[in-house]
Amino acid sequence: MSTLLQKPGNLQLSRRPQSRKGTYFVQTWGCQMNEEDSEQMALALEQIGLKPADSIFEAQVVLLNTCSVRRKPEDKAFSLLGELAIVKRNKKDLVVGVCGCMAQLRADEIRHKNPHVDFVLGTGDLSQVGGLVEEALQSRRFQKRVELPERKGAVVDDVPQRHLNRPTKLKSYVPIQYGCDKFCTFCIVPTTRGRERSRSTADIVEEVTALAANGTKEITLLGQTVNSYGKNLVEGRVPFSQLLRQLDKVEGLERIRYMSPYPRDFKMDLIETIRDCPKVMEHVHLPLQGGDDELLKRMHRVYTVEGFVKIVDELRAAVPWMGLTTDIIVGFPGETEEEFQHTLDLVEKVRFDGAYMFIYSSRPGTPAAEMEQVPLSVKKERLARLIDAQNRITQEINDTYVGRTLEVLIEGTSPRNPGMLQGYSREFKMVHFPGNVERQGRLANVKVTGGYGWGVTGELV
Ligand code: SF4
Repeated sequence: MSTLLQKPGNLQLSRRPQSRKGTYFVQTWGCQMNEEDSEQMALALEQIGLKPADSIFEAQVVLLNTCSVRRKPEDKAFSLLGELAIVKRNKKDLVVGVCGCMAQLRADEIRHKNPHVDFVLGTGDLSQVGGLVEEALQSRRFQKRVELPERKGAVVDDVPQRHLNRPTKLKSYVPIQYGCDKFCTFCIVPTTRGRERSRSTADIVEEVTALAANGTKEITLLGQTVNSYGKNLVEGRVPFSQLLRQLDKVEGLERIRYMSPYPRDFKMDLIETIRDCPKVMEHVHLPLQGGDDELLKRMHRVYTVEGFVKIVDELRAAVPWMGLTTDIIVGFPGETEEEFQHTLDLVEKVRFDGAYMFIYSSRPGTPAAEMEQVPLSVKKERLARLIDAQNRITQEINDTYVGRTLEVLIEGTSPRNPGMLQGYSREFKMVHFPGNVERQGRLANVKVTGGYGWGVTGELV
């Protein structure tokens, strides 16, 4: 353990004997950060002696790890809570905890509408989950924990718990930064996850070293604006590029990915790091959101179209076969046909390898929710046009890969075709090729024979 601040809850967890009988189920919505949080919560529950249940309705302890970025996952969480109320009528010892972003944002409403909920735990300190479950199993007193930590300094951390009993995984997520200071007008994250905080560099290096020793070949560093990492650390500022250079030296680790960077903070030192460090993959997921300066201004994205294109040009000049993906919102409040056309034009100009394209979803409490909304029919029609354009570009780019040899980390067999192996290339292309499953977990060179919308096919070299 390096400079860790141990929390009382964590000390308790590590000393508690694993005697409790019972099962748990963690239901997750949302982003990779939530997936990683759920994994940590599951580890905490296993440390108090619970075992995973086969299904949510068989479990004694059910945790809902919620997402507030769009309306749909919130509706799904409330709907599942309704089903669990019925289950609890006949299963009095069922413990229901609501965690994550919706818990942070709507704790009182969740409790008011769902008196069967035992506790609500926001995003601030997930290590409390084991203690909360223990308390709920012993008494029926409702608990609410939604405090967000202070901004200044390294995040209070718990590396030993994060490592303990962590099953060997080929690919692991490693959060390095929490919260966000950017305040995009459409986004609820600064409210649900608080202001930007970074984990200490020593703790991250220690965790990645332990993961690599335990068999992890690829890590994905997570942060809301991951390349803004390292501000406000008590040990002094550590740029994201420096962290990458340190992780590049970790023995046994093969690949480093990260998401999602913020365009304004994507500087030359990071581009040079991608070029120079063999373990840092040649793929960047750079969220564009909109391709018009006025649109970006209303979104409070503090970069311009010209600035975004400059980063792309610099990236491609440094690393010619750079994989580039993005996020684009369609139908942001006030989006005119002309502004949307500028986004389409930019997509044609930049030629992303792929894009996550969404219809704008209004989030109460954000400035954009108060702006003039675009009719749903218009949003749908624009989204269809954008998807058409991007799908064509993806196909065209993937066709240009034919004949190239790609390094692939073999993840296993294709779910659709058990005779084929699959994995991602350094540029984040999904690659399918015939081979023996015994190669799983290894790197392989694959010569591309065909390009498709979903990725490429090839043959082992
Ligand atoms: S950068 Fe913007 S979209 Fe991303 S988390 Fe921060 S506020 Fe939300």
